Amino acid sequence: MQSSKRPQENTVFMKFEDYNFTPELKKSIGKLGFKKPTDIQFKSIPPILNGEDVLAIAQTGTGKTAAFAIPIIDLLHRHKIKNRKDGIKCLIMVPTRELAIQIVEVFESLAYHTQVKILGVFGGVEQDPQINKLSKGVDVLVATPGRMFDLIHQGVINYRRLQYLIVDEADLMLDLGFIKDIRDVMNFLPKKRQTLFFSATISRNIKDLAYSLVTNAIRIQISPKDRVSKNISHSLIFVEIDDKRFFLERIINEYPESKILIFVRTKVRAERVQKAMARVKISAQTIHGDKEQKDRLKVMNEFKASEFNILIATDISARGIDIPNVDYVINYDLPDQAENYVHRVGRTGRGMEKGVAISFCGEEEKEKLEEIEKFLGKKIEVREISKFDYEETIDFSEENPKDWQVLIEENENRKKKSRKKKKK
Ligand code: ADP
Ligand code: MG
Repeated sequence: MQSSKRPQENTVFMKFEDYNFTPELKKSIGKLGFKKPTDIQFKSIPPILNGEDVLAIAQTGTGKTAAFAIPIIDLLHRHKIKNRKDGIKCLIMVPTRELAIQIVEVFESLAYHTQVKILGVFGGVEQDPQINKLSKGVDVLVATPGRMFDLIHQGVINYRRLQYLIVDEADLMLDLGFIKDIRDVMNFLPKKRQTLFFSATISRNIKDLAYSLVTNAIRIQISPKDRVSKNISHSLIFVEIDDKRFFLERIINEYPESKILIFVRTKVRAERVQKAMARVKISAQTIHGDKEQKDRLKVMNEFKASEFNILIATDISARGIDIPNVDYVINYDLPDQAENYVHRVGRTGRGMEKGVAISFCGEEEKEKLEEIEKFLGKKIEVREISKFDYEETIDFSEENPKDWQVLIEENENRKKKSRKKKKK
């Protein structure tokens, strides 16, 4: 009882009011409803304000974006924006366009009353409007590597006076796909600058690589016992691969009002699961790399706004994305990369919210499960399904050709009972 008032994740007692930030910034922090810094914000803000290089690791949903946005906006507003003609002062590199847009939004809301100008540049949309805005003067540029290099080569980004480089989702950005881009960009940028890496997961190798890229970086690691945030209760069920769709159908039907994010292994499977759900009259949207950019953005915005409730996604499309009020994350397939388990389940239970994650594990996926549990350093709780429940789940699928009207009558009472039990 006595400790119940203390938020689980947040052990900081200092309030944002107590900080010496510029009043324009404090006003926005207040408007966002942030009262106290999260642990990672509390620990990262002072060294960033002090000019240190930082490698910051903290669980999903712990407010890493504001952990760099707040001090950067404060610094820029106080000292740097008078010289906007000098070009961009801060570059933030991210793996996806969706994340670029989200970070721009966070910066824009925090910088609303300040003079700081923010722009996102990413592929899949026309260049000219981006070039236009760049020419008018931008302080903070949030970019995916591809489009950024395009614009650099066209000479429309002036980065010669850049002071801050931030790499978000750093483990992914420093991994094979992007490392060359990051090295290249570091070669372009002024040597005298501050570099910040932020991530929820990081391996030994990537950590070493990060250190090799900066000088005397301060490491800030919030490492609770569990890699998965406390706000998430996560468990798994063993299901045959061919039966997964029945279990998904059942979960969706049992929680009709819930916002559910479903992860699958490939783009093709995303479409396939969507079709399987359509056959049982469940409408779901998909998001993955094969979709047109404008469709991806539309789907993500509508899901964020809860205009629809069921989204099927691949790993990369949801990395770092902050979607309000996701009730359930379903790992329809286990991820190929163990750390993506943490990123996927981390789409729920964000900020002060709580969330539930359920993973489906087929016989063929048990090796992956082992990898994931090794990464987590502990077993994932298994939800036992009785043979009766398993069969019932299949029997009651809309897809099932049986005369289920009869089955319903037969099982009505038993079914109600067992669901009631589950909900508890
Ligand atoms: P991360 O990058 O660590 O996964 P985000 O930066 O996306 O997390 O933030 C997760 C959520 O927490 C967001 O919805 C954000 O608005 C909220 N948040 C961030 N900082 C605070 C704070 N100090 N108090 C309350 N909520 C916060
Ligand atoms: Mg983040």
